[in-house]
Amino acid sequence: MSDNDPVEGLHEVQEGIRRAAADYGRDPSSITLVAVSKTFPAEAIEPVLAAGHRVFGENYVQEAKAKWPALRERYPGAELHMIGPLQSNKAKEAVELFDVIHTLDRPSLAQALAKEIAKSGKTPRLIVQVNTGEEPQKGGVIPTEVDVFLEACRDQYGLTVDGLMCIPPAEDPPSPHFALLNTIARRHGLKVLSMGMSADYDAAIQLGATHVRVGSAIFGARTKR
Ligand SMILES: *Cc1c(COP(=O)(O)O)cnc(C)c1O
Repeated sequence: MSDNDPVEGLHEVQEGIRRAAADYGRDPSSITLVAVSKTFPAEAIEPVLAAGHRVFGENYVQEAKAKWPALRERYPGAELHMIGPLQSNKAKEAVELFDVIHTLDRPSLAQALAKEIAKSGKTPRLIVQVNTGEEPQKGGVIPTEVDVFLEACRDQYGLTVDGLMCIPPAEDPPSPHFALLNTIARRHGLKVLSMGMSADYDAAIQLGATHVRVGSAIFGARTKR
């Protein structure tokens, strides 16, 4: 295991992605590894940056705000992805901090983001989260409402959506959820598919993932949250 060496974990996951790409006939450069550093301190992230990795995911605005401005200064080109639930009242900070937001999932958030994007002139790339398992406790648009929501993002809020994201239910085999997300994305001509985590990124790559979000396989087990 890579619990104490994130750089070793990074290299293992990079190799896993290359292997999956080869297995499934995908171009490895079409798959972006988002290294999920939530709950880990800057000291654990820094070696991964020093090893050359630049794309990271965080789940909490406050935590990202505390860790990332200093890291970004030291490592130009770092790209930060918001992958956690986002409250509308954090839209301003999120637009300031993140290059990509994976968790756009309701009109109130679309409206808040549109307002902050217009004010700041910053344009984070946007991905709509789909609740493929229709779990009540989970964020995301339910599959039957994606069409209407995407239309509202475009026509009502003037937002460009690049793709879709999902987190399959923990108790389900993930592949049917990845396949469903892929089908919905294709229907809308969306190119970005954010799916697959430490346990299932191989299956996600098989089913077309362009972004895999991998935390514990790089940084080790999380002890909090
Ligand atoms: C924490 C988290 C991940 C990473 O999960 P691991 O199992 O540690 O790889 C990926 N996506 C989201 C949305 C997360 O919250």
